[in-house]
Parts: sequence; structure tokens; C-alpha cells
Amino acid sequence: MTGLESLTTEEVIEHGKKVVMNTYGRLPMTIVKGKGAWVWDIEGKRYLDFLTGLAVNSLGHSHPAIVQAIQDQAEEILHTSNLYWIPNQIALAERLVKNSFADKVFFCNSGAEANEAAFKLARKYAKKKYGDDKYEVVSLENSFHGRTLATLTLTGQTKYQEGYDPLPAGLSYTALNDFEGLKAKVNEKTAAVFIEPIQGEGGVIPASQEFLQAARDLCDQYGALLIFDEVQCGVGRTGKLFAYEWSGVTPDIMTLAKALGGGVPIGAMLATDMVADAFQPGDHASTFGGNPLATAVGCAVLDVMLQEGFFSSVQERSNYFRRGLEGLAQKYQTGDPVRGEGFIIGWPVSKVGPEIVARCLQKGLLINCVGGKTLRFLPPLIVEKPEIDEALKILDEVFCEIWK
Ligand SMILES: *Cc1c(COP(=O)(O)O)cnc(C)c1O
Repeated sequence: MTGLESLTTEEVIEHGKKVVMNTYGRLPMTIVKGKGAWVWDIEGKRYLDFLTGLAVNSLGHSHPAIVQAIQDQAEEILHTSNLYWIPNQIALAERLVKNSFADKVFFCNSGAEANEAAFKLARKYAKKKYGDDKYEVVSLENSFHGRTLATLTLTGQTKYQEGYDPLPAGLSYTALNDFEGLKAKVNEKTAAVFIEPIQGEGGVIPASQEFLQAARDLCDQYGALLIFDEVQCGVGRTGKLFAYEWSGVTPDIMTLAKALGGGVPIGAMLATDMVADAFQPGDHASTFGGNPLATAVGCAVLDVMLQEGFFSSVQERSNYFRRGLEGLAQKYQTGDPVRGEGFIIGWPVSKVGPEIVARCLQKGLLINCVGGKTLRFLPPLIVEKPEIDEALKILDEVFCEIWK
């Protein structure tokens, strides 16, 4: 018991404002319970969760396999140390390696840490193999890679960087899906190119297959590493285990986090043997990284997703949702097409995005808006058609009220 259970939302917020740092623009609500695609606020009101803690609760809330894994592991041991071998960590690494391009995995606790690890590995590899002059990193405008000093520098949006300079040196940026722009930035000094196969925070903007292939070819030409940040779009979100599978373009390094722990914090950085060999004992570390609890849950998450038929069902239901959204976009003539893949979907709606989000919240549907004008939908991968119908009905009502 925390002592806050019986308070109203308003009272909880009053407590929060006094003691929690003011780093988030939060909605005036607090979620305290969840089951499947549904969550409840502290006053007992129910919402359909089409945001899932930002692509984290991909198996929905209180999934029995996750609950079981946490309970079982809590009774065994929660944490040991990377001074020792951790069987659960090995088991999760085996699952990731078996189902991806990668040979080796480093575990950490968040998306930013996974990208930080990727950044460090790329620099280490480039310097060991090619010498001190190969350290530059190319990243994309409008990208998002996290909030540590290195990863906010990778993030190609100045609003995240203001007030934190001097930033780490050696970074440059180019536009997504602009091959000529990329070609102008990659050269002998380039150690790595960072790409989100689908930009999430940037507005759900997919990289084209041609762009990814061109990036692969350029990296091969100059001995640079291609790094895919799948922190948001990976681990089942697009209807395949990894988003890069849709393109057929394989990276040298890939980062994961959000959905991998089903709600328990975890991050992972995957690489081929050739690249991973650049890290030797002492080169990188994390106290909590890959601990027995987080990796037990990671195994449970992957075991559910890798069951026969799971992804075909995700693809089928996400197409159903997508068609519903396209129908509404057509009905209300909202302009630019709905975009994304599987259950990461963006619907550009011009400037009333925040108003739509607020009205959906009132009617019991959680979504959000990126860049002020793109509605983003990240429902749980287990969402059922009646729940999708309910979400579409609420959206229809909201658009009917305010769209002119
Ligand atoms: C959320 C996100 C991150 C940062 O993850 P944290 O766990 O918040 O550090 C990095 N990259 C992408 C693509 C993300 O969506």
C-alpha cells in the first residue's frame, strides 16, 4: 500500500506537483488498473487503451503469461549481477538471435540506453578497424532516439537539444527518404547511420524500402554500420517480429526496448558477431541490464508472439483497423493518407489533433497526437475486432462533433 489509493485524481495530482519534477505535460488523469485492451483510472472509469504506454504493453494489460513469469521469477530471484552468468538473459538472447539477423545481444534498461550502447559500439568498432578518424554518425531529421546526451544529439529535432550544449561532436543529419541527401553525408569518416524503419515520435513516417536499401549500399561502400532503432516499431508492433523484415534490408546493429518487457523496463542492443567483437570485457556495462526478472518476462513476451498464427492474426486485425480509419479519413476528408504498418498507425489531421485526443479521452479512448497534427494509434497487438469497432465509433463521434 502506498497511502494514495483512496484519493481522487485531483488530490493525487496535488501530491504529485509538490514532489515530482515537472518534466512532462501530463493529462489530468491517473491509470491504476488494466486488463487486456482496457484500463481504469483511480476513480474507476474505464478506457480503451489504443496507446499502450507508448507501444510498451503490446500484449495488453495483465497478460496471464506475463503475470505468471513475474510471479514465478519473484519467488526465485529478482537480481544478481553481470559478474555472474544469468540463465534467463541467455535464454532471451537465444530467442532474439534465433529470430533476427543478429549473433549477439547486450541488455540494458531503456531505449535510450540501447541507442547509447549502439553509438558506443559503432565508434569502438570503427576506431579499432579503421583508425581514429572514423567516428562520424549520420542521423535523420525528425528522428527520435532518446534523452541521454548522446541520444538526444542523435535525435534530429532541435527542440530536444536546446539548453544542453555543448553536445557530443561528430553528428550530422539528413532527411528521411532522401537518397541524394544521405549520399552527401556518408563518407570515409562515417562510422554509422542511424535509422528508425518507422519514425514514431516524428509522426509515424515509414522509411521507404528504396531508402533503406540505398542506406545499406552506402554503408557497405564506406565501411559504415547501418543501425536500426526499433525501440518503438520492433517486437511485433508492425505485424512481424521486427520492422526491418518488411523491407528485406538487414542492419548491422538493432536496438529494442519498449515492448520487449511487456511493461517491465528492458532494453537490448543486437549486433552481428563481426561488429559485437569490438566490445571486450570492461568496454560497456549496466548494473540492471538483462537481470533475471526483466529477461524472464522478455522470454514470456517473445514466446507468446512467436506462437503459430500470432502475427497473421495481428496483420489481419490491423488491416481491419486501418481500413476503418481510412474510411473515416475519406468520410471527413482529412487530407493526407493514413500511414504506418500493422498496429503503429498515424493519421494526419492538421491542427485539431490535441482537441481530438482530449475528446476521445472524455469518451473513453486513449490515443495521442505527435507533432501537433498526426493522431497516433498503438493499440495492444491482442486487441479484438469489437474493441476496434468501439474505437472507430468513438472517433466517428468526435469527428462528427468538431470536423468541418
Ligand atoms: C521511445 C523511443 C526511444 C527512447 O526510449 P526510452 O526507453 O524512453 O529511453 C528511442 N528510440 C525510439 C524510436 C523511441 O520510440
